[in-house]
Amino acid sequence: MNISQIVGFSGTGLVIVGYIPQIHHLIKEQCTAGLSVPAFAVWCSASLLFLIHATMIRDVVFVGVQVVNLAASGIIVAFCKRYAGQVCPSHAPAYSASAREDAS
Ligand SMILES: [Zn+2]
Repeated sequence: MNISQIVGFSGTGLVIVGYIPQIHHLIKEQCTAGLSVPAFAVWCSASLLFLIHATMIRDVVFVGVQVVNLAASGIIVAFCKRYAGQVCPSHAPAYSASAREDAS
């Protein structure tokens, strides 16, 4: 493994670390607060296209990070649809305040 790949896989590790709290909260609390299904659906589609490209150019780092992005965005879209509109107690006050502002 060369230095470029080490840097790339380190970045992939950070991508995984970034997704873990989001997915953990979504699944454990069944809370969709702040998650946009259309945005994650587009990112999921983009990851699939990038994955095809990365495979065609045989870039192992790019393949790895796109597999991670595809899996994470797919999980987020699936659980957001499953728990549509549900918000945990810790996010509920923020959503209630937002709804009051919208009504006034
Ligand atoms: Zn929440």
